[in-house]
Amino acid sequence: MSTPILTRRDGTVIDNAIIDAFRNDFRGQIILPADAGYEAARRIWNASIDKHPGLIARCSGVADVVSAVTFARANNLLVAVRSGGHNVGGRALCDDGIVIDLSTMKGVFVDPRSREVLVQAGATLGDVDRETHLHGLAVPLGVVSRTGVAGLTLGGGVGWLVRKYGLSCDNLLSCDVVTAEGKVVTASAEINPDLFWGLRGGGGNFGIVTSLRFRAHPVSMVLGGLIVHARDQAGAVIRQYRSFMATAPEEVTAYAGLLSTPDGMPVVGMIVCYCGDLAEGEKALKPLRSFGSPLLDAVQPMPFPAMQQLIDGAFPDGNHNYWKSTFLKELSDEAIDLIVERANREHSPLTTVVIEFYGGAPGRVGHADTAFAQRQAEYNIGILAQWTDAADSEKHVAWARDLSDALEPYSSGGYLLNFGSEESQAAIKTAFGSNHAWLAELKAKYDPTNFFSLTQNVLPAR
Ligand SMILES: Cc1cc2nc3c(=O)[nH]c(=O)nc-3n(C[C@H](O)[C@H](O)[C@H](O)COP(=O)(O)OP(=O)(O)OC[C@H]3O[C@@H](n4cnc5c(N)ncnc54)[C@H](O)[C@@H]3O)c2cc1C
Repeated sequence: MSTPILTRRDGTVIDNAIIDAFRNDFRGQIILPADAGYEAARRIWNASIDKHPGLIARCSGVADVVSAVTFARANNLLVAVRSGGHNVGGRALCDDGIVIDLSTMKGVFVDPRSREVLVQAGATLGDVDRETHLHGLAVPLGVVSRTGVAGLTLGGGVGWLVRKYGLSCDNLLSCDVVTAEGKVVTASAEINPDLFWGLRGGGGNFGIVTSLRFRAHPVSMVLGGLIVHARDQAGAVIRQYRSFMATAPEEVTAYAGLLSTPDGMPVVGMIVCYCGDLAEGEKALKPLRSFGSPLLDAVQPMPFPAMQQLIDGAFPDGNHNYWKSTFLKELSDEAIDLIVERANREHSPLTTVVIEFYGGAPGRVGHADTAFAQRQAEYNIGILAQWTDAADSEKHVAWARDLSDALEPYSSGGYLLNFGSEESQAAIKTAFGSNHAWLAELKAKYDPTNFFSLTQNVLPAR
């Protein structure tokens, strides 16, 4: 293909003198298509994403973010915002326009006395764990340490501490934000509370978050790991998982998954994290561990950062990925049988169908208290198709879509925004439910021109 150039949304080309003037006002790195680092800078972990931005502005701090927003607005550019770059659908990138890239802004500052943690937007989960663990603390984030904190939290954020301590966004105390007008504002319960409401689950619709302040919790060692059974036991194992989760203490977060071993054998597994007293945890996990004849039981005490890295290897850079998600009204026998039958039909050993139970702390926050609406739907089904050969893409994407469609009769209609590869406006409206109307009002207030359009996009109310 020809070398991409920076163009305005109307297709006209931006002249080099304008780019040079922007460069003079910028402390970070400006990366253009002809530059040596461009190929690496335009890539994310998911090989299915192949976008060619006209300019990548790798920011060194908040002033650079303001500068990039001002430049983009003045020149009518399409804007993508990148933090961890882990969004499956590649929302961190765009074609032709500008990527405002915060991935090198990785500072994490822990105040052990107040248990507050200030995180710059480019930090990953692993960056946060590394600092908080020094103080015996943890912030509730996700389950793969290379995921970006900012995108994950703005979409809600579910992880190993979700049942006990809630969603990541429920542990947010404040954010600093650069708005579409290039203003620096704080959002918290006291300052710009409407914006703070929208940032907790409403995605990147309202501005660029440059830092997030979290409440941390006393979590240091956990009892965690993987339990694996033969695939022909899947129906029984998932039913046992369902009855275990119905009464399991909130210290337990556990996911069940249809996956394959590293040498390609299809199995059913459960991955477990108990975040309380370890002796109590041994007792609590007994019903799950004593069921049937597992091929492997690797549950053991481990530092929380190790728990958070346990499945990193299952999501390497450079494979193709396509994800769907749906919340279930309930995990019925029929839904379990359907999931198992469809998982058995998928022949990529890298694909996983994961059953995630979030019942506990998230449901104690009111549905309209934050933008994250899906608080009562306790079971999420993540359909995580992954394969290596681009030529097989159509087949694996079709399989994931088919399973998602087949689950529709069991679905609450909602899905986890963080897991989506692609969403229609109708699906976004359904996911936000009755919060959508208020999100559209907020969008009209903070981003009336839809400057931040490459998001799970809420259109401004008119
Ligand atoms: C391997 C893997 C594991 C995952 N595990 C979990 C999990 O356990 N729990 C969970 O909830 N999700 C999980 N996710 C989904 C993940 O939370 C989302 O993909 C999220 O968007 C990633 O955040 P990021 O900062 O890496 O996003 P990026 O790809 O950098 O950005 C994605 C979008 O988020 C918005 N955004 C990002 N940064 C900012 C910012 N600073 N200001 C404003 N908007 C911003 C923008 O709209 C941007 O387009 C996982 C994803 C992967 C690939």
